[in-house]
Amino acid sequence: MTNIFDTHAHYSSRQFDADRDELLGKALPEGGVVGVLECATHSGDAPRVLELAHTYPYIHAALGIHPESLGEEDAPTVAVYGGDWRAELKAMRPLFEDKAVAAVGEIGLDHHWPLPAREQYDLFEAQLQLAAELDLPVSIHDREAHGEMYELLRRYKPKGVLHCYSGSAEDAVWLTAQGLCLGFGGAVTYKGAKRAARVLAAIPHDCAVLETDCPYMAPEPVRGRRNDSRNILHVAGYIAGLWEMDAQAVLDTCAANARRVFGVE
Ligand SMILES: [Zn+2]
Repeated sequence: MTNIFDTHAHYSSRQFDADRDELLGKALPEGGVVGVLECATHSGDAPRVLELAHTYPYIHAALGIHPESLGEEDAPTVAVYGGDWRAELKAMRPLFEDKAVAAVGEIGLDHHWPLPAREQYDLFEAQLQLAAELDLPVSIHDREAHGEMYELLRRYKPKGVLHCYSGSAEDAVWLTAQGLCLGFGGAVTYKGAKRAARVLAAIPHDCAVLETDCPYMAPEPVRGRRNDSRNILHVAGYIAGLWEMDAQAVLDTCAANARRVFGVE
């Protein structure tokens, strides 16, 4: 029962420091969580992501440098490497040999925040090349960068997930036809998320996966609180209404999709 696979989480976040072991060791498995893709954002959290994946067999690791790390003073991308992401990525390279690594992520493009446009483009492209070289799927962040993003996805044709998909239904159709999965989380339950409803109606069910982006993006009716993978039940309930099936069937379908796209048991 339940069969919750969370394809995008940040349990290494400080917001879980007080109760991480209790949550991951007990509350989540008891709550029906059977899989988590835990995503790094830079070289600083990557070792913690790996440690979680080594400790809990249902947690799989994604390693990468998030575009926002180029603009955060505390992130090692700036604080340690002075913006030289090439050196940071090179230093992270041996970590990708770890068997717990299921994906390259979280990587992508973000034009919501004032980040250096050229640098983030080059960083993302380098990580698409790394994913191709390692034959790994990707977990992609696309915020207000659809044009550049789609151009690169057409060129590199990665496997993987566009997390928190925010594009149109029309683009969703060709993205999924190209073999990508789209990730849906708390945002689809918010008022005004009509676009997400159209997307969910337009794509094949075998191209949808569920996610939290926890600690952020808690769905209705727990919006605003710290999020965790158990809240995916609310997202599945909402999608069940759109797909006219029960929530368990949505969870089962999306968990199977997640296992297929990330190549995990
Ligand atoms: Zn994220």
